Amino acid sequence: MTITHALIARRGDDKTQTVAFEDIPLADLPAGEVLVRVSHSALNYKDALAITGRAPIVRQWPMVLGIDLAGEVVESASAGFAPGDKVLVNGWGLSETRWGGYSQYQRLPADLVQKIPAGLTAEQAMQIGTAGYTAMLCVMALQDHGVAPDQGPVLVTGASGGVGSIAVVLLSRLGFEVQAVSGRPEQAAYLRDLGAAEVLDRAAMSAGGKPMARERWAGCVDAVGGEPLAEVIAQIRSHGTVATCGMAAGGALPTTVYPFILRGVTLAGVESITCPMSRRVTAWDRLAREMPAATLAGLSQTRAFAELPGLADDLLAGRLHGRVAIAIP
Ligand code: NDP
Repeated sequence: MTITHALIARRGDDKTQTVAFEDIPLADLPAGEVLVRVSHSALNYKDALAITGRAPIVRQWPMVLGIDLAGEVVESASAGFAPGDKVLVNGWGLSETRWGGYSQYQRLPADLVQKIPAGLTAEQAMQIGTAGYTAMLCVMALQDHGVAPDQGPVLVTGASGGVGSIAVVLLSRLGFEVQAVSGRPEQAAYLRDLGAAEVLDRAAMSAGGKPMARERWAGCVDAVGGEPLAEVIAQIRSHGTVATCGMAAGGALPTTVYPFILRGVTLAGVESITCPMSRRVTAWDRLAREMPAATLAGLSQTRAFAELPGLADDLLAGRLHGRVAIAIP
């Protein structure tokens, strides 16, 4: 094999972005110690923004898109990896400043690559993908701050999306009473199947814009940000924690200091892209143990490489739920 088929973003002289499948020589892949034959990637919220150009995700052109990849090492100049090793990469600037996973082959620095934990296939690793790995980082953040099942129910926002679906599963299996917020009532049965004890309509969790309201949840995994996050913070129980990772509802956070200084609420930021390798390995080992294969299969679909552009539109329009892995032929 001397070429790789890849989904590439280019920028014209007028600064408009075009995205198309292209065949490029393997020799044009970036420098790095490890060459991976990519068998699967994923579609995350950020991928959808990059493919559609809806937000300025790509910062260097041309760019091979895809923030996730999984596959098999075919060449390695690193003592840490050998041909045949099953590996994955999440984040680290893939699809932003570094060529990403929507390519049959990708070459990467060895320190960005990690082995897929025993018990997971490459397809399952990408069904989890950055969204699922971030959901685990959020769960870890809640646990780091002492949130435990006996302190009361926990909330998951953006629940039928990728981060939310996996957070619901992980928290319910840890014994938490999970309340799931969704703007899609038709997803209520799906969310109950994943382990949600209660499904709340987005409108029903509003605190009416008050800086502090009745204390309801001991913790929250928040994938949406914006005003809904401010409403959640107002209703977190004393000494509770919100793990915040997303901005599907916006980046502004119209809150006050009162929940923090009068209730000791913690807002714990979760960031997957530059998360240190040791914490990634912990997160992935836990995912391999704590995410049941049948549940993962039920919340995921694996779609064809060629479908990516249309799927990106579908994700942003709310026509998908759960996780989407991409099979790279
Ligand atoms: P998805 O599109 O799969 O899920 C997002 C969900 O948010 C939707 O399914 C929907 O759930 C809800 N939602 C969408 N729009 C709104 C809105 N206007 N108001 C309230 N809720 C809304 O995306 P992902 O799960 O992949 O990612 C979720 C967020 O997390 C994104 O913002 C993403 O960028 C971020 N993220 C951040 C990471 C980090 O490192 N910090 C890593 C991974 C993701 P429903 O219909 O059920 O309400």
